[in-house]
Amino acid sequence: MAIEQLLILIKPDGVKKSLTGNILTKLSEARMVIIGAKAVKVSKELAEQHYYHLKDKPFFGELVDYIQGKVYGEPWDRVLAFVYQGEDAIARMRKIAGATNPEEADPISIRGAYGRITTKGVYENVVHCSSDPKEAEREIKLWFKPEEIVNKIYPTKEVTVTNK
Ligand code: UDP
Repeated sequence: MAIEQLLILIKPDGVKKSLTGNILTKLSEARMVIIGAKAVKVSKELAEQHYYHLKDKPFFGELVDYIQGKVYGEPWDRVLAFVYQGEDAIARMRKIAGATNPEEADPISIRGAYGRITTKGVYENVVHCSSDPKEAEREIKLWFKPEEIVNKIYPTKEVTVTNK
């Protein structure tokens, strides 16, 4: 199986609900390595580029506001961005994240446990998780400068943590 990188975002609703610790704990079950991490105040341009594939959807404007955290305002108007790396990382992280619609997501997935649908019909699903290798590459380049990524480590089949 291939070693992959992907972008994970803890969206503003995840930040506001203090879910960062819970989300990172759930993701850590996949035993991947984090090779990039930062907090980002999302510009309209970045939001529109990130969700370019949904630009014709009726909810696009609300989606852009959502990822910018506009509905929450200070100090929740930010996302936490991560690049993870590991074997078969995209499929495995998508499974932990859960289905796009939080009401259809497995209840023990992140989105199933913590997501909701707003009165305007937007899926506030607390995390973004790249969906395939091509999208992951595009998204990592969009969100991170090359120097913000720690040297990629191969292989990362198992990450052993010791206290020594
Ligand atoms: N979204 C929504 N309603 C929809 C489809 C998508 O509100 O009918 C939102 C939701 O927050 C989702 C994001 O738009 O995470 C991006 O949608 P995509 O289809 O790319 O799904 P994802 O890759 O995030 O699972």
